[in-house]
Amino acid sequence: MRRDLQAFTDGTFDLCVIGGGITGAGAALDAATRGFRVALIDKRDFASGTSSLSSKLVHGGLRYLEYGHLALVREALVERGRLLRNAPHLVRPLPFVLPFYTGQRLAPWQWRLGLTLYDLLAGSANIARSRRLAIRHMTAAMPGLQEAGLRGGALYYDALMDDARLCLAVLQTAVRHGAVVANYVEAVGFEKSGGAIVGVWAEDRLTQSRFLIRSRAVLNAAGPWADAVCRLAGDVGEPQLQPTKGVHLIAPARGHRAAALLLHPRDGRVFFVIPWYGKTLIGTTDAFPDAGPDGLKVSDAEIDYLLEGYDHFFAHQMQHGDVMGSFAGLRPLLRARSGEPSARSREFRLHRSVAGLTTALGGKYTTYRSMAETIIDDFAPRLGKRRRCRTRDLPVVGAPRIPWEAFSAQKTAALVRDQALAEDCAVHLVSRYGDQVDRVVERVGQVARGFERVHPDEPDLVGEQLWQREEEMAVCDEDLFLRRSRIGMFRPLASLRKWSA
Ligand SMILES: Cc1cc2nc3c(=O)[nH]c(=O)nc-3n(C[C@H](O)[C@H](O)[C@H](O)COP(=O)(O)OP(=O)(O)OC[C@H]3O[C@@H](n4cnc5c(N)ncnc54)[C@H](O)[C@@H]3O)c2cc1C
Repeated sequence: MRRDLQAFTDGTFDLCVIGGGITGAGAALDAATRGFRVALIDKRDFASGTSSLSSKLVHGGLRYLEYGHLALVREALVERGRLLRNAPHLVRPLPFVLPFYTGQRLAPWQWRLGLTLYDLLAGSANIARSRRLAIRHMTAAMPGLQEAGLRGGALYYDALMDDARLCLAVLQTAVRHGAVVANYVEAVGFEKSGGAIVGVWAEDRLTQSRFLIRSRAVLNAAGPWADAVCRLAGDVGEPQLQPTKGVHLIAPARGHRAAALLLHPRDGRVFFVIPWYGKTLIGTTDAFPDAGPDGLKVSDAEIDYLLEGYDHFFAHQMQHGDVMGSFAGLRPLLRARSGEPSARSREFRLHRSVAGLTTALGGKYTTYRSMAETIIDDFAPRLGKRRRCRTRDLPVVGAPRIPWEAFSAQKTAALVRDQALAEDCAVHLVSRYGDQVDRVVERVGQVARGFERVHPDEPDLVGEQLWQREEEMAVCDEDLFLRRSRIGMFRPLASLRKWSA
């Protein structure tokens, strides 16, 4: 995947997508696989907005059952099944422990009812049926779990992903099908003819040069920036979005072999403790933000809130000093008249402005593929309908042809044997790159000290960066360490920079 800006000025595209988060990436892939000529630009790096700052769950969303969002949960569970098949290297089943404590907002029978419904809604896409879990099994899976007041619990399954890399894999798949994509290219205006949009004025943020991308249709997939892009197109109405802010902490591993769904002691909100890349992810908050998407910061109060939740449930307390990293993102949610942030719908809608700009609003990561199908179904008649949607069973770049368990076991053993790699490094490479791993290892071997670790306690290798720059369009250190690799989210960037070429 090369950054070739000249390709954007070659003729007229069928569709120009503004925004390289998962919504834009999914739409670009859907359109390209239907035979449309697609361009996609992002003003920063791909997935540098909300799509690298999520809870990393590919899930139906057990908690949305409480608000009666059955159709959304069903759709997400079906999409979870598809993602487990189509991106098995980046999306894996994740067991969840759900402990029942005396005096909590929801009684055990309500949870059991919810889990039964969750299983039923998943239908044939279910990973495994939920079941009761004895306290001793719960504490074995979640060492240190508070036993006072624990009345029992349940085990259920959802899935865990690498959000930034899945977005990248979707984009790479779109490029394989002919899409032209670039990061660090900002939509700065629209070219109109007779009042209708016929192209996007774009600025290369690396050189400040401007060029016109001619296109028959334009999709605004700018996530939390969507209203700003609407205004660029001349929309003067009320904002369509009312984003909420979500903060996560990353802390050292505490021996957890499952994730936990917990109710925060302060307000009864659902929050998660998730094992991720050998660390513990704790999140999230859900509140109306005090800054726009370009100015988000994690406050001490937000860290306190999450640590208070963790410490309430686990014997090994966490202090501020234990926190290895934190991050904040904005959920691009539809504007509602009222309601608590957590109760707000994750539903998705298309908005068409007077000049013909179509804007994707709302949604969640898990359902990106079905959202993309809806978006391109909407565009197709205008563009001269070609094929029907082809993404339901389309593997993304890196997905192996044989079942994941067999593939990963074979490849990991081969890397340990043939390259003398430590097992954790081999597992890491196979999981990150899937069936591209042999090509990656070849490139790693061509770099001086390529097989050295970027950080002594992490499996990332120095030579991966060459591949990430050449094949994954990483432009700067943040792209390398925050999104191609995730190591910069929990290790200080300054300690990693010495390795960047
Ligand atoms: C805290 C939190 C936790 C979440 N957890 C989950 C979860 O576990 N599971 C789940 O399914 N969903 C989750 N979500 C929701 C999910 O992450 C989002 O719905 C999804 O990532 C939104 O993707 P997007 O592409 O619409 O927006 P973004 O990822 O924000 O992408 C928009 C892109 O547009 C670009 N852009 C903006 N303006 C311009 C311009 N003028 N020109 C060019 N490019 C531009 C930006 O740079 C950005 O990259 C979570 C959200 C949050 C905030």
